[in-house]
Amino acid sequence: SLLDRINAVDAKIESYITVLGDEALNRAKKVQERIDKGEAVSPLAGIPMALKDNICTKNVKTTCASKMLNNFIPPYDATVSKKLYNEDTVLLGKLNMDEFAMGSSTENSYFKITRNPWNVERVPGGSSGGSAASVAAGMTGFALGSDTGGSIRQPASFCGIVGMKPTYGAVSRFGLVAFASSMDQIGPLTKDVTDCAIVLNAITGYDPMDSTSANIKYPDYSKALINDVKGIRIGIPKEYIAEETNPEVKKAVLDAAETLRKLGAQLEEFSLPLTEYAIPAYYLISSAEASSNLARYDGIKYGYRAEKYTDLLDLYIQTRSEGFGVEVKRRILLGTYALSSGYYDAYYKKALQVRTLIKNAFNEAFAKYDVLLGPTAPTTAYKIGEKKDNPLEMYLEDIYTVSVNIAGLPGLTIPCGFDISNLPIGLQLIGKPFDESTLLRVGYTFE
Ligand code: GLN
Repeated sequence: SLLDRINAVDAKIESYITVLGDEALNRAKKVQERIDKGEAVSPLAGIPMALKDNICTKNVKTTCASKMLNNFIPPYDATVSKKLYNEDTVLLGKLNMDEFAMGSSTENSYFKITRNPWNVERVPGGSSGGSAASVAAGMTGFALGSDTGGSIRQPASFCGIVGMKPTYGAVSRFGLVAFASSMDQIGPLTKDVTDCAIVLNAITGYDPMDSTSANIKYPDYSKALINDVKGIRIGIPKEYIAEETNPEVKKAVLDAAETLRKLGAQLEEFSLPLTEYAIPAYYLISSAEASSNLARYDGIKYGYRAEKYTDLLDLYIQTRSEGFGVEVKRRILLGTYALSSGYYDAYYKKALQVRTLIKNAFNEAFAKYDVLLGPTAPTTAYKIGEKKDNPLEMYLEDIYTVSVNIAGLPGLTIPCGFDISNLPIGLQLIGKPFDESTLLRVGYTFE
């Protein structure tokens, strides 16, 4: 029925790049047979899922929504893909995104623009816009996205669903096409917090294939789903409910906070310094890492190769000029500049120093609070085309999400209301490292 739904609806939403059809049906039938035989199966057995198109799937095209990888078929599965297959989930297809996960609106895809299911004139957010839109429009059971600076939480907010960016190191990045390796993290986009906990149980865990994977004991996240927030200390950063934040967003977020207070949580406003430096630090660090990570697309090893070139250098130049879109080129240029000798100290090193200060500021906050609460984004979903030609304005929209990646913390977005145009508003909860459980516990209150 979900494949029928995709057929009926996705021409309007454009969330899928690849749909698997018969392959998915056959797999579902096989799982059903095993369930009929009474075999013990995972809670995810037979559940249809879809993956952002930067997560490698063996024998299934993985494009990163780029011309560069238009025909790339990975010979291996990402660790998360393998883990979910092991739970007997059924892959329906691969989802649209901003090219190489660079963007906040899914307008930077080489293939198509995904639309917000609540209003098709609006963006679904990004870069995991296909993931969020497919869940919101009922075209998959759940989806995975990736979040380097907000790309799970912000589209979840714009599409009125639940999105979790786990602690850096909690989910293996093996097989996730790298954007900014020190911040990239895979996470679930789901209809509710319960589903989020179930998917998190399946994808977290130590993986020797990822050198930054944390070798710790991971909890059973479903144990966090208990209707009780008594005594939980929640801090609201003043800077997160500042003037830039749309008043309707602010009101919905503060109403949610008030609900938690009535249920016994302790709430307090406090100042989280350095919030204004998070955007420049994030865009310098992420672009620097991206310029290095994307050096591999040279037209030789795999992916697109220009047809016309004179010599080896010209092959590189033509391939990269034709294969990458405007935003990706902008990041490569910015990152290469920030890393070049003479500028390194002034930009990249400075950004790393700011990163340390931001981490320290969060550490201080978490000495006082268990959870931080604020909006996911300063606005609701904006119109398609509205910010596309103004990258700086679009970057500023990431103000409340990027610090979480800079500090490697977990962040959960849950829906908390609608604005006057009936567009969803997202609440963001930020937690201590590896304390996804407390975020789920607080989020579950609203279920
Ligand atoms: N919007 C941010 C950017 O463009 C975040 C992207 C992401 O999290 N992948 O870099």
